[in-house]
Amino acid sequence: MMEQYHAIKAANPDSLLFYRMGDFYELFFDDAVIAAGVLGIALTKRGKHLGEDIPMCGVPIHASDDYLSKLIGRGHRVAVCEQIEDPAEAKKRGSKSVVARDVVRLVTPGTITEEKLLPPGEASYLMALGRAKGAETPYALAWIDISTGAFTVMDTTADRLLADVLRIEPRELIIPEPVFHDPELRATFDVLGRIANPQPASQFDGAAAEGRITRYYDVATLDGFGSFSRPALSAIAGAIAYVEKTQKAERPPLARPVREDGGAAVFIDPATRGSLELTRTQNGARDGSLIAAIDRTVTGAGARLLAERLTAPLTDADAINARLDSVSFFCAEGRLAETLRLALRDVPDLMRALTRLALHRGGPRDLGAIGSGLKAAQAIAELMGRATLPAELGGAVVALHALPATVAESLAAALDDSLPLLKRDGGFVAKGHHVELDEMRALATESRQVIAAMERDLCEETGIRSLKIRHNNVLGYYIEVSAGNSDALTSTPEAKARFIHRQTMANAMRFTTTELAGLETKIANAADRALTIELGLFDALVALVVEHAEAIRQAAAALAVLDVSAALAALAAGESYNRPHVDDSLDFCIEGGRHPVVEQALRRQNAPAFVMNDCDLSPDKAGQSGKIWLLTGPNMGGKSTFLRQNALIALMAQMGAFVPARSARIGVVDRLFSRVGASDDLARGRSTFMVEMVETAAILNQAGQHALVILDEIGRGTATFDGLSIAWAAVEYLHEKNRCRALFATHFHEMTALSQKLSRLANVTMRVKEWDGEVVFLHEVGKGAADRSYGVQVARLAGLPSSVVERARAVLAQLEAGATSGKATKLVDDLPLFSAAMREPPKPAAVDALREGLSTINPDDLSPREALEALYRLKGLA
Ligand code: ADP
Repeated sequence: MMEQYHAIKAANPDSLLFYRMGDFYELFFDDAVIAAGVLGIALTKRGKHLGEDIPMCGVPIHASDDYLSKLIGRGHRVAVCEQIEDPAEAKKRGSKSVVARDVVRLVTPGTITEEKLLPPGEASYLMALGRAKGAETPYALAWIDISTGAFTVMDTTADRLLADVLRIEPRELIIPEPVFHDPELRATFDVLGRIANPQPASQFDGAAAEGRITRYYDVATLDGFGSFSRPALSAIAGAIAYVEKTQKAERPPLARPVREDGGAAVFIDPATRGSLELTRTQNGARDGSLIAAIDRTVTGAGARLLAERLTAPLTDADAINARLDSVSFFCAEGRLAETLRLALRDVPDLMRALTRLALHRGGPRDLGAIGSGLKAAQAIAELMGRATLPAELGGAVVALHALPATVAESLAAALDDSLPLLKRDGGFVAKGHHVELDEMRALATESRQVIAAMERDLCEETGIRSLKIRHNNVLGYYIEVSAGNSDALTSTPEAKARFIHRQTMANAMRFTTTELAGLETKIANAADRALTIELGLFDALVALVVEHAEAIRQAAAALAVLDVSAALAALAAGESYNRPHVDDSLDFCIEGGRHPVVEQALRRQNAPAFVMNDCDLSPDKAGQSGKIWLLTGPNMGGKSTFLRQNALIALMAQMGAFVPARSARIGVVDRLFSRVGASDDLARGRSTFMVEMVETAAILNQAGQHALVILDEIGRGTATFDGLSIAWAAVEYLHEKNRCRALFATHFHEMTALSQKLSRLANVTMRVKEWDGEVVFLHEVGKGAADRSYGVQVARLAGLPSSVVERARAVLAQLEAGATSGKATKLVDDLPLFSAAMREPPKPAAVDALREGLSTINPDDLSPREALEALYRLKGLA
């Protein structure tokens, strides 16, 4: 057996091997040590290998899902090794033969399908990276949600690879080995950590890709799939190869890969994504994230679609408005929306049930889920069909109507009302559905009644009132009498012939009769036959469902769209959100904006209501670029909240949701950059300041006119003058070069002087009231600049010892008295805008004159005085 074990383990070196033995999966050697640690189960030993004890631990089959989920959750992969022949077969080969075993499935973080292991509202993606050198965009990502079959692919570049991966958040990213070891991408894979999983390059082979894909989908050519780039084909093939490798004999029903255009979604770099806390907070929790605040969906598929939309807001105004039309429709039709949401609540997860059935991992409840889901879908189609619908919802209802009624009818007719989890023991087919099955069940029931009658007769006949006919798995049916009463069944030769002795217990004896044995055989045969019929019906129903997989997939997608639209309408009604106006301009005008998460948090704490604020970065005239707001104000004044809320409002609008504002007019944002709040990246050896500079560099290098840039306190991590200079230069660059809409918060009040020079820059400040030496934060954004930081007051509020606060006040007064006023104003006057200097290179004529002047000078011949004069002369020429 150990030989067999080693052979199988050698073929699956990266996985923990679950080795089936009886009712357990056993783990050996290092696998056992790892699993026992993670699972908190006992580590034992069994036999010896090379003179050493073999460590071992085991998990019972019936609870294996829970153990699997723990191991997968920690990033382990598990190879499930089953017995693949009947032990009786092995015996035939000889008494020492080992039952044939093989790995039937690799369970990896990206390829799980078990209901227990999948959070209902979250997608579970397996992603593959493809590369084709020399292609215009050399990389591509393909990602599959195996649990639903969704399959998407997009082209990308080395620069934005990390951002794209983090947007989709796969559980596993498989990478061709040579790419994994490419130094250019080292840093990217380091960030991804265990998610990154190198695989043999042959699985991604571009030349073989087409063949692999056509074979999987059982089509002759890829023509019907649309066109894909070379890296995209490689990524798709890599993903499929991994599915084949992990699922062995089974083929999950994957949708055809759909291409996602890189420009279709707002580009959000990883730092921005983290700092905006879209789907989880910076410490990884869903609570406190934007999605937790705005998710009102009632189905798992709806929640997944909402998250998908939030992580990839659109850049096409028409597509955004189409989604907004759906939300508007449900806002206007509140009654219909509520009825729909009630109906949706009962819709099970169609796609996940379908996938399990197709993978032969499904049970009767999965069939039941499909049945009730399809029935609900038909009812919803009818409910919606009565209204005049906007395009997106109309399309969804068409998909619902396209469902073949036969599937739902067949399932409803065949399945019982209450269904067991497993098909193994039968009992899921409804009475009256299958004539022979009913007969077999009746026969079994009847025979049981005959047995009950037999018991009564025997009691009477023998005079033993306590005689019982019982059943257990070893003896089957038997007659039991107490030891004291057994004489009646054993004393006469006739009795001896009739009552066949089976077992003697401490105080009872057990017998059978030919009659009883006959009945038992009848019952067993009937039950066997009934089970065979049920399993046959099960397979037929599964085949019927799988045959209509595509229609079911479309219907499931349509239900998710209805759920999301109605949920966003419910959110808008409940939270007083309004429809944003979205177009292709450069406008960004928010009136009465709020922060969706902070607003709800304040309400929960019964704190004073959130203070609304306006933000207008729109160009003054068409054809001009958008504006920059320079925001000053004390710490705790609400600067970060204001910055973030405007970024979130833009994203919400572009995902097609109503927004927390009285009104919003937004010209589509194509890239969003947000640097709010400093975070250390010490693991990678970067200081706060270094991280800040790297991220600021990325923004200044990438933001174009349609971008929205949110910067908070750039330059805080270094000495004051360094920091001020960098912040100053960054704002000039944003204004002159990037020309994007931007919000820039700073505590360098000197910078407000920039508004004199930069025409599209406006100063705003978080209002505070000073009262009796204390500050009161109004959380109100107003025109103008803050004149003070109130740092000392905030420090006092935070509970610094009063002697420290007093001393700080005194020091501050000294410093302020010593400071020369108007230094920054002077800086503005003296310093030509560096961007202006950049745009005006020295005139060619002046350059020529300078050259000529220089050529007449021989430095070695000049006295110091002559040299100085020459210098003045040259300066005059420039
Ligand atoms: P800053 O970035 O200026 O230090 P924050 O944005 O972190 O300030 O805000 C500090 C606190 O003030 C927040 O935790 C929030 O509770 C509260 N706050 C911010 N903005 C508002 C607002 N508009 N209305 C009400 N409370 C607010």
